Amino acid sequence: MELDKRGIDLHSVRCPICDNDTESVDHSLATCNDASELWRRVLDWWGVCGVQSVNVTDLLKGCVLNSSSDVGKRLWQAVTWTCVYIIWKNRNQLVFKKKRWNVPVTLNEIQIKSYEWATKRCRDKTIEWERWLHNPNSLLM
Ligand SMILES: [Zn+2]
Repeated sequence: MELDKRGIDLHSVRCPICDNDTESVDHSLATCNDASELWRRVLDWWGVCGVQSVNVTDLLKGCVLNSSSDVGKRLWQAVTWTCVYIIWKNRNQLVFKKKRWNVPVTLNEIQIKSYEWATKRCRDKTIEWERWLHNPNSLLM
């Protein structure tokens, strides 16, 4: 949509993944079927309940999950940014390489990549892999 608004002639502005909507930032990264299912699973992983719909702005601002600690906010930020990065990477692999992705494998990729990024950058707290994988919400306090 943003490229089309700027006058760039595109073959289509439809979502290349589902073809059910125009390809906007929110659609591609949050509301498209696979992206939406992926966010639901990420929120389940972090123990976040009751979120009916997500948009990219709220996710990147950390509005969906509140933490009382700065470390917790940064850890959640690592997860959301990793998720957005991987959804966009997968979208590009589909468009340019015709390579399909699936939600369970992608969730696992997000868990691994966000753990790598969080543990490399977080010097305030020791984070064990098992805790990251099975009880990440306990890291928010
Ligand atoms: Zn779509």
